[in-house]
Amino acid sequence: MCIFCKIANKEIPSKIVYEDPYVIAFLDINPRSKGHTLVVPKKHYKTLDEMPDEELCHLIKGVKETIKILKKLNFDGYNIVNNNGKAAGQEIDHVHIHIIPRYEGDEAVKFGEVKDIDLDEVYKIIKS
Ligand SMILES: [Zn+2]
Repeated sequence: MCIFCKIANKEIPSKIVYEDPYVIAFLDINPRSKGHTLVVPKKHYKTLDEMPDEELCHLIKGVKETIKILKKLNFDGYNIVNNNGKAAGQEIDHVHIHIIPRYEGDEAVKFGEVKDIDLDEVYKIIKS
């Protein structure tokens, strides 16, 4: 059983921010900012696209409910980050959504530089 399944089953203790029958949200033990929280479905799915639509709806609703609770931290904004696959930086093979509260001037999340990519070529591939 994976570590997030164990957290969902309460076999491993965590600082739970929000919980309902479908999802559990807990503070990330390696926080990128004050209040960095992970929201995970209680059922094990490896990546987002494997999840049934209904489960996805529960997950994103759980994200919203968790943000409402985190607002007590008075952040100025927040990032929703979801990594799927090793190449994307997914470290635990159980779907999880990061909520990263942002505070004016912090550098908690940075996107890569703009790349010179041929959009016509990309579009031809995905539309073929
Ligand atoms: Zn799992």
